Amino acid sequence: MPTALITGITGQDGAYLSQLLLSKGYRVVGLLRRSASADVIGERLRWLGIIDDVEMVDGNMTDLSSLIRIIDSVSPDEVYNLAAQSFVAASWQQPLLTGQVTGMGAANLLEAVRIAQPSARYYQASSSEMFGLIQEPVQSERTPFYPRSPYAVAKLYAHWMTVNYRESFGLHTSSGILFNHESPLRGIEFVTRKVTDGVARIKLGLAKTLSLGNLEATRDWGHARDYVRAMWLMLQQEIPDDYVIATGRTTSIRQLCSIAFSYVGLDYEEYITTSKNFFRPAEVEVLLGDASKAQEKLGWTATTSLEDMIGEMVDADLTRHRKRLG
Ligand code: NDP
Ligand code: GDP
Repeated sequence: MPTALITGITGQDGAYLSQLLLSKGYRVVGLLRRSASADVIGERLRWLGIIDDVEMVDGNMTDLSSLIRIIDSVSPDEVYNLAAQSFVAASWQQPLLTGQVTGMGAANLLEAVRIAQPSARYYQASSSEMFGLIQEPVQSERTPFYPRSPYAVAKLYAHWMTVNYRESFGLHTSSGILFNHESPLRGIEFVTRKVTDGVARIKLGLAKTLSLGNLEATRDWGHARDYVRAMWLMLQQEIPDDYVIATGRTTSIRQLCSIAFSYVGLDYEEYITTSKNFFRPAEVEVLLGDASKAQEKLGWTATTSLEDMIGEMVDADLTRHRKRLG
């Protein structure tokens, strides 16, 4: 039975990746950062019904000694580094913490692998945000990066450290440059989930409007369930490498609102307001990925349409709010 260590196991991708690996017979161990809210922190794993099937170990991405001890005692065959301060908007408020967790955290984990289990295969959660001010209309592994937020700068450091540890030490390290991916387990502050939650509240009479920022930005949105499969596939390759994972379709926030509101028979224009509070100091206007390398080498393609995913998310948020209403 192979063993996988997942950092960020309590996040959206950590939950879906755990589910996938458990279904493949893995022993799944998750890094859990100490919190006073331990009872609610496993909510996503609970939602998927797998909380009792994963093991948890205490540690923190900013504490190298904890990572070395964990790698040493768990002896993982595969290490998935999903932990991050992952919200772009928050990275301007907490740039140093973002650097420490999202950037240096990856360096800490790479060091722990190098010291304690150099045979382990390592996955780094890189991000399309690294393309930022896009240098090509469609972004692939060959597109130059131009990060536009402290988050993206930190991810770029982690990305190049992953490449460097492969080239310097021969470690089996791969980096997935994943475009935005969403699900009913997406954090509520991200725009897709904020919109589907808003749609559910408005539909149930719990809110009258929804306040957003820039409606004209576009994103290449896929489903997290599809994207964690790509992570696993990358670590099954004999030769480690970097891959763009995307759907090849880009949609504006405005169109996203239209899809989500019309799913419950409402016209978004009657409910959306905009507030400068949700605009960013520097915007990533357009992201559109070319995943043909992943398709060719990993046999990976996205299987869920944006419309189906938004429908699934709205349904889940309706159910959550109905439950709360009793
Ligand atoms: P989430 O924000 O849902 O999850 C982040 C995880 O990191 C949580 O488990 C969180 O723990 C953990 N974490 C944060 N700080 C620390 C720390 N100091 N020590 C240990 N763990 C910590 O992210 P997603 O699941 O959406 O994304 C997974 C990864 O993929 C992230 O690295 C993200 O930046 C990256 N990514 C995501 C994309 C997306 O569209 N979702 C696109 C491209 C990249 P806790 O629950 O305690 O907060
Ligand atoms: P990101 O691509 O990782 O930053 O994912 P987000 O879901 O946070 O943001 C996607 C895009 O939606 C960005 O261009 C934001 O500026 C835009 N956006 C517009 N309104 C909002 C909002 O109210 N919240 C968030 N999170 N993003 C918004």
